[in-house]
Amino acid sequence: MDNLTQQIFSENMLQYLNGSPTAYHAVENAAVMLRNHDFQELKETEKWSLHAGGKYFVVNNHSCIIAFTVGGGDLAQEGFRIIGAHTDSPGLKIKPGACMLTPDGYVKLNVEVYGSAILSTWFDRPLAMAGRVIVKQGGGLVERLVKIDKPVCMIPNLCIHFNRDSNTNCSYNKQTDILPLLSMKEEGMEKGDYLFELIQKETGIEKTDILDYELFLYEYQKGIFMGPNEEFISASRIDNLCMVYAGLSALLESEEDGKKCKVFAAFDHEEVGSASAQGAYSDFLPHTLERISKNLGLTDDACFQAIANSTSISADTAHAVHPNYSDKHDSESCPVLCGGPVIKYSASQRYSTNAFSAAYFMEACRRAQVPYQKYVNRNDIVGGSTIGPALSSLTTIPTVDIGTPVLAMHSIREFGAVVDNFYAKEAFRAYYEDKEA
Ligand code: ZN
Repeated sequence: MDNLTQQIFSENMLQYLNGSPTAYHAVENAAVMLRNHDFQELKETEKWSLHAGGKYFVVNNHSCIIAFTVGGGDLAQEGFRIIGAHTDSPGLKIKPGACMLTPDGYVKLNVEVYGSAILSTWFDRPLAMAGRVIVKQGGGLVERLVKIDKPVCMIPNLCIHFNRDSNTNCSYNKQTDILPLLSMKEEGMEKGDYLFELIQKETGIEKTDILDYELFLYEYQKGIFMGPNEEFISASRIDNLCMVYAGLSALLESEEDGKKCKVFAAFDHEEVGSASAQGAYSDFLPHTLERISKNLGLTDDACFQAIANSTSISADTAHAVHPNYSDKHDSESCPVLCGGPVIKYSASQRYSTNAFSAAYFMEACRRAQVPYQKYVNRNDIVGGSTIGPALSSLTTIPTVDIGTPVLAMHSIREFGAVVDNFYAKEAFRAYYEDKEA
């Protein structure tokens, strides 16, 4: 394995993570990467004219993206090679009616919990703010991405003197305990003004033009490589932007003269169940596959053939065995950091892997000369899920659930190994290329 290649990939991946505090920014930065590699943006609302050898992408809601390349082979016979991931991460979303004034003179932000975040990790950290606003412009409505990359608020812990159980029995009320402190009340200022004033000051967008917003808080401190040999990565949103970056990089790097149609899809709202117009349970992917097929001149019957000849990978981070809690894993299924991507199994179909889909991923790893590991939950622990069940059930395409092993999943700062993401990218590339190394 070329160390310099691996280092460049890892540094770019960290830059992508740090530069993408929300799903909107993850998609925006993915689009930049795609345009830099001559991918053409398609609009769902416009006519498409696809051709063999073409490279395209289409965005939905600015938080979900499908990129694809059209191979030179017979699509009905060759099918699609699909990799899917998700753009969202658990965290805190600013509610409508954002600002609250307390009798003590504090200005607090009213927030709601998005997904299953580990709330304790959000305390005592400088937090920044990002997302999008909808503004009036030229008689229409326009979306503007917003990133206030400054430490603008903080959720202070209650001191141990007022909570002697801090280290033994700590729980948080989601409604009252996690509201960040934004500012001190100023004379004459209405509570509704604070957030809009801040947006206007930091972005130049006139506060009177802002009709609505979707804003999230994120950790101001950036992700870093760490460990004696910088073998680890400590960052926000490792779940699942590492897999987005690895999948996208594989699509961009894989050779262009293949026969198959290569597809990369990144959905929003996985952390809240995937049921939205931008989520994996939407028809966005099935519609797009059908539209590609028909645009290339396939008959209805040939479209069904193309789907039946397709395979897919659901890429999402996996549970590495914890150094202090190894009993949380099945004793025969303990993936470790630096051990390569993890194939995830679940008899109850919380992961979509079956023997066939696992086998084609194992073959991709063999061709890429990277290691892989296997994971199945303990019978007495339910565990998480992924976009895999949505992807496989909606499209009827075989799907393997895999991901790089991480610790502290859903913490504000997650923890992984640098090499695993490179291994995953190499495996994805081999999957797309379908040839011996
Ligand atoms: Zn995830």
